[in-house]
Amino acid sequence: MSQFVKFTIDGTECMAARGQYIVDAAKENGIYIPTLCNYPGVKPKGGCRICTVRVNGRLMTACTTPVAEGMTIESEVHDIVELRKSIVELLFVEGNHFCPGCEKSGNCELQALAYRFRIMVPRFPFQFPLRRIDASHPKIIKDQNRCILCKRCIRAIRDEEGRSVFAYRRRSSRVEVVVDPKLGKQLTDELAQKSMDVCPVGSILVKEKGFITPIGSRKYDHEAIGSDIEHIRMTKI
Ligand code: SF4
Repeated sequence: MSQFVKFTIDGTECMAARGQYIVDAAKENGIYIPTLCNYPGVKPKGGCRICTVRVNGRLMTACTTPVAEGMTIESEVHDIVELRKSIVELLFVEGNHFCPGCEKSGNCELQALAYRFRIMVPRFPFQFPLRRIDASHPKIIKDQNRCILCKRCIRAIRDEEGRSVFAYRRRSSRVEVVVDPKLGKQLTDELAQKSMDVCPVGSILVKEKGFITPIGSRKYDHEAIGSDIEHIRMTKI
């Protein structure tokens, strides 16, 4: 059996290693599939559903579905783009994001996706939930207003024994992601910075480090999210 499989994404012929997840295989072929909960090196979860694609007629999450020979994948088609856009809008109205006052503005993947989908104002009513900002940890601020519960921090930030430093607390609509009271004490400066970098939004901020990169010079101030991947494709063509 060949190590590689051939498939199409929106009619473009692609090739990737057998078993590779669609989102990664697409990337290698210069095709960007947006995602928020997926993170390189961390086991995929398929939680945010933004990477939804249609595979052989069925909706699947691209971060958890491996490519297979002959697959027909639809991604940038109207109904799927609308679905992704709706998810982004719902995330905005469900929390309190207030982009202009956020330290992650310009580096935020949620904000960058809103720009990509040309969202000016969400179609849904803002909920303005009452959420807290926890500044009790010596190294980080955990702002629950901006948490989208993607679980990246829980999956990626672990101590030397592999235990998650972040954890869920409470249930249902009151659920929140917090620093584990015991393991959080082990958060080094490096791990604190990694936590902030892993978080796609501004829910984890390193203390005493604001505005090191000025607004206007941040990652998505200059390039649309996914444009680095799409650039690979343009270069190949
Ligand atoms: S703190 Fe950030 S990384 Fe962790 S679950 Fe919330 S949004 Fe995701």
